[in-house]
Amino acid sequence: MQSKTVLTYHSQGFPTNWDLNPYRGCTIGCRYCFAQYSHKYLGLDDFFKDILVKTNAADCLANELRRKKWNREQIKIGGTTDLYQHIEKKYELLPKIYDVIKRYKTPIFLQTKSTLILRDFEIIRELSKVTAVDISTSISTFDESIRKVVEPGASPAIERVEMLAKFRGVCRSTTLGFMPIIPYLSDTDINLDTTFRYAKEYGIDNVVTSFLFLRGAVKPKFLALIKDHFPDVYPALSRLYETSTLDVSYSRDINKKLEKLRSKYNLYGVYSPVTITDQSEQLSLFNNI
Ligand code: SF4
Repeated sequence: MQSKTVLTYHSQGFPTNWDLNPYRGCTIGCRYCFAQYSHKYLGLDDFFKDILVKTNAADCLANELRRKKWNREQIKIGGTTDLYQHIEKKYELLPKIYDVIKRYKTPIFLQTKSTLILRDFEIIRELSKVTAVDISTSISTFDESIRKVVEPGASPAIERVEMLAKFRGVCRSTTLGFMPIIPYLSDTDINLDTTFRYAKEYGIDNVVTSFLFLRGAVKPKFLALIKDHFPDVYPALSRLYETSTLDVSYSRDINKKLEKLRSKYNLYGVYSPVTITDQSEQLSLFNNI
């Protein structure tokens, strides 16, 4: 597929306002994925199988950065769909995109559930010498029997932590997104503790957390999956999501546990986006080397 543009601006975006998605659709296949709704606007049915590949993504990016007289704001690559989903093995779009990023010295935020990112380790290491690169992975559970059901195409959770640890000291920051926390599946005391313990043991800079969010057509599909695979959990979980917002007393209790774990592991890092000033300082540091 030939695209005209690849950068999308989100006024409320986090951690950046700019997104670049080389693919539409995602083979990682997380059953809770709320990006699934976006496929209907493309007239496609299966978000996990009908994948659009922006084969000219690097050229588009170069054109856009040139036209916009880019002032090196941070770009999140793979904000809506995973940049290192399986198909990237075949298309190898990322190395070409990194080439453009390097030319424009623009900071980037990479978030992936795949260890395929290690294929580009050396390229990312070189890129980190000229601009800020932040790396993140999100993990819901270290229980592989649950992970295989809810995130069937993701790399095993422990491999994702090991992957993040490899980028320690190479990139500006490493972030473990403990998300989504799925009530009664990934909020067990053992999973909460394991997540923070691994983050500490592997020297991850930040842990950010977020609860499962269900909306639109994803909600009944996800609840049906839970009913099939975890029938004991289904009644309580579906009760929690009877309305569109998660029950407040539930989230308050879990948040208290999360705070205790931050204190237990002395792990208070939360992600801070790169600002334009940070970049200028960082580049002047590089220039002095
Ligand atoms: S990796 Fe991200 S985009 Fe892909 S299916 Fe999972 S949640 Fe959706």
